[in-house]
Amino acid sequence: MVNPVNSSRECAVCGYTNAANRHKNKFHCKRCQHDSHADVNASEVISARCEDVDALWAQAGGQANLRSKPRMGRRVQERGHRT
Ligand SMILES: [Zn+2]
Repeated sequence: MVNPVNSSRECAVCGYTNAANRHKNKFHCKRCQHDSHADVNASEVISARCEDVDALWAQAGGQANLRSKPRMGRRVQERGHRT
């Protein structure tokens, strides 16, 4: 599981986490001066965590295709809602 806690306050570039990094919809890192939209930065933080999880999973000998199944299932559900 990817933990989204603090993703809106964590810098996607340097990992610095501070509530002061976020100003409504804008993200500005107090440490490395990275500027971004708050939601864009948060999604970058989360995707970076996903890559970390994938790497850990691979190290543990897990099969990546097993992990991707829930994502595919969710996509099918979303398609069902639309029709
Ligand atoms: Zn930063």
